[in-house]
Amino acid sequence: MLIVALTGGIGSGKSTVGQIFGDLGAIVTDSDQLARDVVERGTTGFDQIIAAFGDEVLKNGDLNRAALADLVFKDPAKRKQLEQITHPLIRKAFAKIVESAKGDSIVVNQIPLLVESNHNYKFDHVITVSASEAVRIERLLKRGMNLTQIQQRLQAQSNDAQREKISDSIIRNDNSQADLLSDVEKVWELLQVKNKNKS
Ligand code: ADP
Repeated sequence: MLIVALTGGIGSGKSTVGQIFGDLGAIVTDSDQLARDVVERGTTGFDQIIAAFGDEVLKNGDLNRAALADLVFKDPAKRKQLEQITHPLIRKAFAKIVESAKGDSIVVNQIPLLVESNHNYKFDHVITVSASEAVRIERLLKRGMNLTQIQQRLQAQSNDAQREKISDSIIRNDNSQADLLSDVEKVWELLQVKNKNKS
């Protein structure tokens, strides 16, 4: 089993890379998706958040994620409180996926905010998908975001240099999708070798 972290700034192409790894045979998880799953209505995460933050983070019986994000964005203590609820639950959900995977699997976990969240999980391999800011902005505009939203996101995130510093592999994604596929395939071969040597 090889546990891999896959990170990259918004618009770099990490979801695309995650999908390719999935096609190649990896088990792919997404920390953002896990973060949403653990606070769905009916979960203990949901109950804990309502107990901590009250009805103002509810909308039609569901969690009002925008209101919650707003609340913790303005108040670091509340943000910490939220993370103390969600982080253990996300870790547990991830551990469950790993436990149910076959022994020789390669598990790729997409973690957009790997650098920012001070992850202390020991990954076997860390991959950053990088692309120039101009290329990323162009992709995000195409995806329907406006320039102000894009600038805000870019400013809130760490930069490629910070991500690359903690990475074992860097996948540059400034070119075509075909180039990307061939680069991801190369990293996949490396992961397979590393996985074999580990066992
Ligand atoms: P992220 O998950 O890092 O935000 P995505 O994988 O969603 O990025 O990619 C952002 C957008 O750019 C998507 O619409 C995707 O299809 C497109 N994209 C990704 N890589 C390339 C590429 N090499 N050439 C053209 N478009 C790309």
